[in-house]
Amino acid sequence: MEIEQKYPYHSLRAEEALEKLQSRASGLTDEEAQLRLEEIGPNELTGTEGMNPLLLFLKQFKDFLILILFIAAGVAWYAGHMVDVYVIMGVIMFNAVLGFFQEYRAEKAIQALKSMIKQEATVRRGGKAKKIEARELVPGDVIILEEGDSIPADSRLLQAKNLQTVEASLTGESLPVTKKVTPLEEKVHMGDRTNMIWKGTHVARGTAQAVVAATGPHTELGKISSSLGEIKVTTTNFRKKTDRLGKQMAVISILTSLVVFVLGYFLRDYPFEEVLLVTVATLVSSIPEGLPAVISIVLAIGAKRMARQHAIIRKFSATEMLGSVSVIMTDKTGTLTKSILTVKRIFLGDGSEYAVTGTGYAVEGGLTQNEQEVNPSDSPVLRQLLLIAGACNNAKLGEQPGEGKEGAEKGEPSVMGDPTEVALLVLAKKITTKNEGLLPEVRQIDDLPFSSEQKFRGLLAEVEGQRVLMAVGAPEKILKLSTSILTAEGPQDLTDELRQEVWEKMDSWAEEAMRVLALAYRPSDGTSEEAVADDVRDLVWVGITGIVDPPRKGVPEAVAACRSAGIRVMMVTGDHKKTGAAIAREVGILDGLANDTSYGDALQEDELEVDDQEFSRMVDQVSVFTRVSPNTKLRIAETLQDKGHLIAMTGDGVNDAPALKRADVGIAMGIRGTDVAKDAAQIVLSDDNFATIVRAIQEGRIVFQNVRQTSYFLLTTNFAAVAVFIVAIAIGWPFPLTATQILWVNLVTDGVMELGLATERGHGDIMKQKPVPRDASILDREVVPYILLMSSIMLGLALGAFAYYLPQGEETARTAVFLVVAMTQVFNTFNMRSLERSVFSIGLFSNKYVNIAFVVSLSLQLVVIYTPLLSGLFRFEELPLVDLLVLLGLSSLVIWGAEVYKYFRFGRKQAREQK
Ligand code: ADP
Ligand code: MG
Repeated sequence: MEIEQKYPYHSLRAEEALEKLQSRASGLTDEEAQLRLEEIGPNELTGTEGMNPLLLFLKQFKDFLILILFIAAGVAWYAGHMVDVYVIMGVIMFNAVLGFFQEYRAEKAIQALKSMIKQEATVRRGGKAKKIEARELVPGDVIILEEGDSIPADSRLLQAKNLQTVEASLTGESLPVTKKVTPLEEKVHMGDRTNMIWKGTHVARGTAQAVVAATGPHTELGKISSSLGEIKVTTTNFRKKTDRLGKQMAVISILTSLVVFVLGYFLRDYPFEEVLLVTVATLVSSIPEGLPAVISIVLAIGAKRMARQHAIIRKFSATEMLGSVSVIMTDKTGTLTKSILTVKRIFLGDGSEYAVTGTGYAVEGGLTQNEQEVNPSDSPVLRQLLLIAGACNNAKLGEQPGEGKEGAEKGEPSVMGDPTEVALLVLAKKITTKNEGLLPEVRQIDDLPFSSEQKFRGLLAEVEGQRVLMAVGAPEKILKLSTSILTAEGPQDLTDELRQEVWEKMDSWAEEAMRVLALAYRPSDGTSEEAVADDVRDLVWVGITGIVDPPRKGVPEAVAACRSAGIRVMMVTGDHKKTGAAIAREVGILDGLANDTSYGDALQEDELEVDDQEFSRMVDQVSVFTRVSPNTKLRIAETLQDKGHLIAMTGDGVNDAPALKRADVGIAMGIRGTDVAKDAAQIVLSDDNFATIVRAIQEGRIVFQNVRQTSYFLLTTNFAAVAVFIVAIAIGWPFPLTATQILWVNLVTDGVMELGLATERGHGDIMKQKPVPRDASILDREVVPYILLMSSIMLGLALGAFAYYLPQGEETARTAVFLVVAMTQVFNTFNMRSLERSVFSIGLFSNKYVNIAFVVSLSLQLVVIYTPLLSGLFRFEELPLVDLLVLLGLSSLVIWGAEVYKYFRFGRKQAREQK
């Protein structure tokens, strides 16, 4: 079998292309596809292979810090301290191993996330349409595409209806390109091959079927790029912040080490090599070398936690950005509501009204009037409405009960398609299954899919030998397009009084939070084969249906949580003003807002054609925007951003892509969303749920807090250790630690403990604070008193110990200082688990990783002091057990000091909050 992926398929007719690709209109069989997949390889771009652990390990040696360590080793060797040389080499190795594990862990987490983002494609295999992973596509597969799908492989069109694709990612052309099936001349340029569609581009509108011609690296995209659609770690706001932090800390450590050198060499005349060695060692230990790695671990852990909560991160930076979100712009259907729509009421053109019984998608229930069961065959208008509801519809009901869907009851069928259409289909089925032969046969000729700009859908069909055009959509829209109204006696003039009556009914339903849909039709002339939007006019109005879509569980709570977290929630929806406002009221979006309510609870699109100043006032005062077009969505977002807000926005359709990109955090719906929206977004919600956004924001805040806590920890630690040197030298004492001892302290404290801090879970009050301002830097002046307090305790203890033990010899004194410096830092980790709360109130041992780090760190210290070989190398002197315990006890003073500090600084505030 020989499949040519490079053949100019655009020059063949559709059938010839199929034949050439050894396929057929019904598609390949699974067996054929399997064989081809083995032969040709998966439909993936190359260059996406995983990490190489060896390279990752070697990378650790490229570090600037390692260079300084090698210099230190050189100096030691020059001074003849061979032991120091070995120890420094050991430290270099240890550092590399630690760095390796940190990065390995972060990398693993990123890869796990990548594997969650799967692209799917609908293909026809053995005559049946099914969804497969896009990587399993092979040349010859027949794929089915609709609006918003991304195109999974280079393909030759077989059928196209109103098809337009956007090829900007490939050709740079931003306008949609119209695609047709007709063959072209062989020599036309790639950008003009309008019967071909390309991997990496997407369907802007219309539907199509196509046969795959080239996959993976053989596609046009494969030739130019190897990295589309991956998680990108770009330089972001946050990266800038962490870079600045790194620089700030590096400057501090260089300056302080310089002081050590100057004091040691010029003020006291220690031998040059000694001073140099100690200076280099303090420099090494005070540079926060672990910080970048720790930050990526914090981000990775945050992203992993979010994924567990159904928020899948596509761009890593979003993890932290979420923490600063101050406005959420959410849509309604499916995000705030369950998206299990049920028709509850019917109001017909002849003035009759019905209630529909039954719940959810279950095909059980019927029609009642004044609590009495009605016989549908009595009313021709009702029959016409049911006919349109069932036929002008692209949804499908399966046999199997639906699985996994929140709120789906047992016995409900699985459903496919737009929930609005499912609701209408279920309505029709409820009646027709009980009354066979009620409705005539419908032969569908052409379907006009729903678009949120038009706000209606259509169908061209043949009913009893007669062509009709059916339409279902937003009632204002359909009412405008209607000229007559259906009654039991046939169509009549649609008078203004009748319009008024319909309008009032619609309004009152919308106020009850119902989504209202109008159904209408028009006899067609019988020549046209295509359903086009322009033909949807002069309609005969049949009636309206009222659909309920109850709020999801947990949404009101999530909205309330946003309020106390200082986050504003806005609803931006395509639905009717009153429906929007009613749902907003139910979930609590309208609570406690706007002091000035001159604009009312909600605004709709046509009220928004105002100048920027007024628009900006509206955005301040109104939180529900309805019948909104994608452009207005963008305008609202931009207005808010100009006010300094950081916004998270949800979206699902093709038209939402620009707004999703524009938002600081674009959030796409995993279930309902189109591929285009998902590609444009930074986060994909796998459960489409509003409450998930709020949980993700909480994780985002924890990320920022953990980065902050870890850097404060490093800063205190480094500052205190260097201070010990400076003061000791100034007094005229010997060095309080040797170079190798400093390096070891640095490893067993910073290196180990910061990993524990990275996993802190955040504490109760994190969603009671205001969002972190967008440009807040990680180092905050707030923390200065704390750092000074901790450093003085550490300094006092270390110098005290040194003075006390100095009469027993330098080595004993250094051993004591070593213990004190290390242990005060280790204890400080516990303090840093929360900047405001008492460590006892959050649970002293509640962070498993900090506990492990504590044990590891303590053992490492004891090992170097109490194993003869190592203590010889490090020049430690054994301390009696009592002394050891006393020193440990004294070191724990940092905890008591911090507790007192936290109590006076924040304790009262917390007590107030708890009331
Ligand atoms: P949203 O989903 O935010 O409510 P849409 O733009 O999807 O907004 O829908 C706008 C209006 O269009 C709805 O209020 C409804 O009247 C109508 N509509 C929505 N979906 C369909 C559909 N599948 N078929 C016909 N009309 C629809
Ligand atoms: Mg919708």
